[in-house]
Amino acid sequence: MIAVGDELLAGHTADTNSAWLADRLRRTPFPCRRIVVVPDDEPAIAAELAAAAAGPAARVFCCGGLGPTPDDVTLAAVAAAFRVRLREHPVALAHIGDVVARMHRAGWVPSPAINPGNRKMALVPEGAEVLRNRVGMAPPVVLGLPGAAGRRLLVLPGVPIELRTVVLEEVLPVHLAGEPAVAVEEVAYRGIGESSFYSILRTLAATFPDVRFGSYPLPAAGELVIRATARDPARAQLAAAELRRLAEGLRPPPSPAG
Ligand code: AMP
Ligand code: MG
Repeated sequence: MIAVGDELLAGHTADTNSAWLADRLRRTPFPCRRIVVVPDDEPAIAAELAAAAAGPAARVFCCGGLGPTPDDVTLAAVAAAFRVRLREHPVALAHIGDVVARMHRAGWVPSPAINPGNRKMALVPEGAEVLRNRVGMAPPVVLGLPGAAGRRLLVLPGVPIELRTVVLEEVLPVHLAGEPAVAVEEVAYRGIGESSFYSILRTLAATFPDVRFGSYPLPAAGELVIRATARDPARAQLAAAELRRLAEGLRPPPSPAG
């Protein structure tokens, strides 16, 4: 997952898109393996895209920088990385025209005509398919990647509501379909320090080599969450049950009445 934006690196904006998308991807056959944040800089984005294309990922996401201003260079970077030209895409242009017309009817823009900024957004790498963006103007695109059959790059708008809508409506059903990748079981504890679980977690890791265990203190909730993740849901459940059993003795004494 490549998040694009100077504002993300500067700390003006939190990268909520990557967090949201990773949460969705966990429940698909394509759990997220890597997240990088790059500036709105064509060579930097292109280098990251090339690295991702050379890597093992079956799906690569590149999010943000599809807007109507010159600082939005993501599609130009895609074209540079894969040595294709940018072409005005008729589907993207028609969609942009519709949105501008609608905005004009609503009184939000002075003219129903597409301005140069709008037109710039219709410049799409050659060979890419344009997806529908029901809630915004920026055209999401899909481009095949070299290597194994079906590998692809999905370039998504950065506006969070647009990203989410495009993922839920266009990307999940078509580009991420299949059986869920992993099962996650959580056990929450209160009042027990994380280090108390050291030997229990070592025992569990040895007993369940096919299960991944993680310990996550959540100070705001006053909880410690221990997570067991496995491909086989039955194994994750068994591991969680074994954790509960082993940790029984760790429970803090009930607070005295009154
Ligand atoms: P852009 O896609 O660069 O045109 O960004 C459009 C809007 O979405 C801006 O307000 C960005 O700050 C915001 N945005 C872009 N990327 C992210 C992200 N990864 N997480 C949250 N907001 C974002
Ligand atoms: Mg931007």
